[in-house]
Amino acid sequence: MPPSPRYRRVLLKLSGEGLMGNREYGLDPAMVTMVAQEIKTVHEMGVQVCLVIGGGNIFRGVSAAASGMDRASGDYMGMLATVINSLAMQSALERQGLQTRVQSAIPMTTVCEPYIRRRAARHMEKGRVVIFAAGTGNPFFTTDTAAALRAAEMSVDAMLKGTQVDGVYSSDPKKDKTAKRYDSLTYMDVLQRDLQVMDASAISLARENRIPIIVFDIHKPGAFAATMRGEGTFTIIR
Ligand code: UDP
Repeated sequence: MPPSPRYRRVLLKLSGEGLMGNREYGLDPAMVTMVAQEIKTVHEMGVQVCLVIGGGNIFRGVSAAASGMDRASGDYMGMLATVINSLAMQSALERQGLQTRVQSAIPMTTVCEPYIRRRAARHMEKGRVVIFAAGTGNPFFTTDTAAALRAAEMSVDAMLKGTQVDGVYSSDPKKDKTAKRYDSLTYMDVLQRDLQVMDASAISLARENRIPIIVFDIHKPGAFAATMRGEGTFTIIR
């Protein structure tokens, strides 16, 4: 029998770009389906799963502000992009037979539920996968910070960042062959060395609430489930 999962409840943070596949923009349905299958495997291990999905594959407020748009308006557009991604992921998860709820930090009740902390926790207890959409609901924040915030509110045992590489490296492993992968780091290591894991406010929030952050390769089949058993390659920050 495989070892049982180390975690009872986790939050998985996915960037919008991670759902883009080889495209330059938007969503790759095959990639969304692949990630949904990975989530299903972990859910079947008895782990309660919630998700925060970014919106960078569709819209980023900072980029819009650089070309003259009001930053707050751009950020609201970015938050709406996360709702699009969340609905796509909801649909993919439901095709896998999972029960899901999307809760948005910006209420849009004809599309999904508004964010209600206790209700989200109850959904997870009932075995539903909860997708937190629209980031924190506030401009000038990122979905990394939203992930750390929801992770703290949901009292998760770990926050997982599903990326394109299997952990945190000393430099970009796709560009630098000598880049070294870390097995574990402290929150302070990440902040002081300015390692590109999550933004500083997300790291600080995780640190204050003692939530371990696990960085792993979401595109490697079986890696999410292996990480839940403490197997495979990943970097843990604690
Ligand atoms: N955003 C925001 N407040 C939040 C979360 C997100 O204003 O709490 C906006 C911001 O413009 C951001 C965009 O939504 O650029 C998409 O989110 P993010 O860049 O974090 O997505 P990712 O890089 O994870 O795909």
